Amino acid sequence: MQDEFTLTEKLRKRAKIPAGSAVVKGIGDDCAIYRPRGSADDLLFTTDMLLENVHFRRETHKAAEAGRKALARGLSDIAAMGGSPRFCLLSLCVAESMDDKWVNGFFDGVTSLADETGTVLAGGDLARSPAMSCDVVVCGAVPRGEALLRSGARPGHEIWVSGELGGSALGLETNKGKARRRHIAPEPRIQLGQYIREKLRATAAMDISDGLSLDLQRMCAASATGAEITAPPRFTGASLEQSLHGGEEYELLFTVRPGTRVPPTFEGLRLTRIGRMTDPAAGNPVRLDGVPLEPKGWDHFARQATA
Ligand SMILES: [Mg+2]
Repeated sequence: MQDEFTLTEKLRKRAKIPAGSAVVKGIGDDCAIYRPRGSADDLLFTTDMLLENVHFRRETHKAAEAGRKALARGLSDIAAMGGSPRFCLLSLCVAESMDDKWVNGFFDGVTSLADETGTVLAGGDLARSPAMSCDVVVCGAVPRGEALLRSGARPGHEIWVSGELGGSALGLETNKGKARRRHIAPEPRIQLGQYIREKLRATAAMDISDGLSLDLQRMCAASATGAEITAPPRFTGASLEQSLHGGEEYELLFTVRPGTRVPPTFEGLRLTRIGRMTDPAAGNPVRLDGVPLEPKGWDHFARQATA
């Protein structure tokens, strides 16, 4: 089967945006951008599915944890653009094997994260079928023209990541301790996204949802750069492989102009410079300590998660 990138590229070419459209960014970034005429803000839109046995398991996730994760995925995309969330629409297909308690718990998880982040649950759809599935659309806002894109990095720009990587993959493997928490209850980095946009004037950003190696490759493709990195900071107990390729981190990967003063932490969250963007190279654009880094992150179409 064609990989996710190939399919997305095909769709991107087919879904042409007519000249003068208020859609100023279509397929290919963390969110689409809609620019209402005369508005001081651009609107951000993202949609994310949460499927049982793909994104969560009923044995390991309580209903509220699944609900929280369903919304967190979209909020992380809003964070990646430097935006603030406004409202969400949620469609849930309840599995025939799920009871009212599960459904109520699921919505408890959704609404508690919605309340914490000022996101209004504004509508959706409900259905029942043999398998559970869920889709959440999140709308956010960002000052006009200021959204952080994947495509803004240039050779020489520094590459930074938030937090420590590999914890989610470790938690998926062990289902224990802090790593479990990291996997089950990811924190969308909304305040950090706004900070790097406003104060650091970040040149590009995205959230790490499919693994650093794959997501950085996507940023390089969007920005037409290569990247030279060293190993990222590792979550306690995580392997190097997990930190490089593990998905569902929901930390931010971003670039800044050289010489930008980036503090070592933001609200207690570690910020680490892991390398710099380079001129585009033929073949694999990402190098770890000078050696090409194979993207082994999560691609639903091409491969299995390695972590
Ligand atoms: Mg994303």
